[in-house]
Amino acid sequence: MHGKKETKMLENLGWMNSWKQDGKEYKLIKECREKGHSSLDTGDNYRCVSTSTCEECGYTYKIDSSG
Ligand SMILES: [Zn+2]
Repeated sequence: MHGKKETKMLENLGWMNSWKQDGKEYKLIKECREKGHSSLDTGDNYRCVSTSTCEECGYTYKIDSSG
């Protein structure tokens, strides 16, 4: 620990569309919401694609809503 505030490495969970229904990713997000975090949605890099990130939990994932 250096006591320096640095950007945490975010775990890339990949595409939400490819997660299993009982996957750890859904659990992570559920816990995140229960903790009241506000995940950051940075959408529309591409058509129908948005990115959701919570720095407190240290994850990031993409959602393809084109389907
Ligand atoms: Zn969170």
